[in-house]
Amino acid sequence: MQANERLTIAIQKKGRLGDGSLTLLQQCGLKLYPAKSSLFYSAENLPIDILLVRDDDIPTLLADKICDLGIVGENVLQEQASQYPLQFESIIKLGFGKCRLAIAGPNKFDYINLDSLNGKSIASSYPNLLKKFLSQNNIDASIVNISGSVEIAPQLKMADLICDLVSTGRTLSENNLKELFVLLQSQAVLVKTECALSTGKSETLAVLLRRIEGVLQAQESKYILFHAPKEALANIQRLLPGTEAPTIVPLSCNDKVAVHVVSREGVFWGTLENLRNAGASSILVLPIEKMML
Ligand code: ATP
Ligand code: ZN
Repeated sequence: MQANERLTIAIQKKGRLGDGSLTLLQQCGLKLYPAKSSLFYSAENLPIDILLVRDDDIPTLLADKICDLGIVGENVLQEQASQYPLQFESIIKLGFGKCRLAIAGPNKFDYINLDSLNGKSIASSYPNLLKKFLSQNNIDASIVNISGSVEIAPQLKMADLICDLVSTGRTLSENNLKELFVLLQSQAVLVKTECALSTGKSETLAVLLRRIEGVLQAQESKYILFHAPKEALANIQRLLPGTEAPTIVPLSCNDKVAVHVVSREGVFWGTLENLRNAGASSILVLPIEKMML
């Protein structure tokens, strides 16, 4: 493979998506070493370079073909999408950086429905998404475009309401604000431009994608082991969430069997209690590190 066939992926250098992006790539087996500048990591074992940037710059870097792929929030992608002639292809949702873009207002604001927003001013760093939302819903509200610390705008009388990213809602409540309406649900996605990649880069992307899918599958899956009387098996199997055919091994000491099964869904305490009530014992639930189907 030629030197210029290295796949370049832009990720956030520092911030809410930075650690998650790096961890995911490392879980995919990339051995990453800082290259000559602090702007890059270079993978030793796959032809991949990682570019460390501000998340807002990722759509531009993709559009300008500085990088082939990026890991960015859907919120940023959708806010900036209208600025670029080429559409971005969101290849896979990555399950971290989850948040929502929501309109919020002071606790005492009398909100009934979207009509309550008419005549109000709304501070946001997402003017494009907000403008689109207001026009789609025939709301006559003004937008105050500010970057950073949007949540203090109502206290400073810069705007009546805000439209900002929310995850736990703690920042809102600390500022005496309440969430009124969600415009967009967002999470980190792996994105690429619609530009075709060279054959070498496409091959590397295929390997990477398979591994990302494996990591995501493994995160959601658990390996469950338990002992059970043979006659209880049919009943027990109905209680196991998202599982395929279990491996059943006879135990030498008594007439019980050992059951090994992979569950593709969350395994809760309630599930274990139900299993136990149905006759299962010595129940173990183990995390799965890697998975390839
Ligand atoms: P940068 O310096 O890279 O521009 P930033 O201040 O824009 O950093 P962060 O606050 O780290 O960025 O947020 C990056 C992304 O994390 C957001 O665009 C969003 O996709 C996601 N995110 C998840 N939860 C939240 C949240 N509660 N507030 C803001 N962003 C969140
Ligand atoms: Zn940013």
